[in-house]
Amino acid sequence: MQIVRTIDEWKSIRKGISDLALIPTMGYLHEGHLSLAKEGKSKAKTSVVSIFVNPLQFNDPKDFEKYPVNEERDLELLKSIGTDFVFIPTKEEFLGKDKPQLKLQMPGLTGELEGKFRPGHFEGVLFIVAKLFSVIQPTIALFGKKDYQQFRVVRQMCTDLAWSIDVIGSPTVRETDGLAMSSRNARLGEKAREQATLGFRGMKIAEKALHDGNTDVEDLKEIVKDVIESGTLNRCEYVEFAHHESLSLLTNLKDLANTEEVLLLISFYCDEVRLIDNIQIQL
Ligand code: AMP
Repeated sequence: MQIVRTIDEWKSIRKGISDLALIPTMGYLHEGHLSLAKEGKSKAKTSVVSIFVNPLQFNDPKDFEKYPVNEERDLELLKSIGTDFVFIPTKEEFLGKDKPQLKLQMPGLTGELEGKFRPGHFEGVLFIVAKLFSVIQPTIALFGKKDYQQFRVVRQMCTDLAWSIDVIGSPTVRETDGLAMSSRNARLGEKAREQATLGFRGMKIAEKALHDGNTDVEDLKEIVKDVIESGTLNRCEYVEFAHHESLSLLTNLKDLANTEEVLLLISFYCDEVRLIDNIQIQL
């Protein structure tokens, strides 16, 4: 495994590579990241994992400061699964000294959900992913569906700009009790960690209610919210049903065709740690 810290070094390496899978991450790796990295390896001859904590996508500066870092462990994990390259630039190397002037926006897909509650977040994501794509020049890129809206906007960016990058969304990897793996889980204390799992549990209970015939969106959202907030440390930010392509919020599940799937997405604070999750429900 080769560790690459500068853009110039990567550009000269890139010349000798044909098909290339990129897995962008912010480090502090867990099984969710590793499953993307393994999938990337299986889908292209060469794989590169990038590690860069993107300051531009943190709307809350405290969240950025508290973001966990463990470079040594990350590199060991990636080596153990046979990753070919790790691109791990410093902030100065990757972003330069001056604030970038370019702004990328996608209002139609970011007006709700994460985009609504994290102003500026997707501008930061789109800029950094566009820059990674421009520097790394991958043929495929893998993203987790845990961050569904992120996966969706990145795929749209490639469509809109006719970039020949196959953007793949991979299923969410979970702990045995259902909690979606996240680097932020490391900040949960013992009691919070127990209550964090109520998000997934709430969504599964609502899914069952829907399959049992309850199609009242407000009712189903209330079910999820009540389960989450049965944890004394939990505070819901949003619970929404959305269309998996347009990401528009759904207020009526009755009119959707039988074959369709819907997304149920949640965000909640668990003892000050902001967690997000979603499930795809077949109707
Ligand atoms: P992050 O380091 O949190 O920016 O995540 C890097 C990539 O890993 C993103 O595409 C995430 O969606 C993905 N990811 C994070 N957690 C999970 C998970 N539990 N399962 C699958 N993919 C994940």
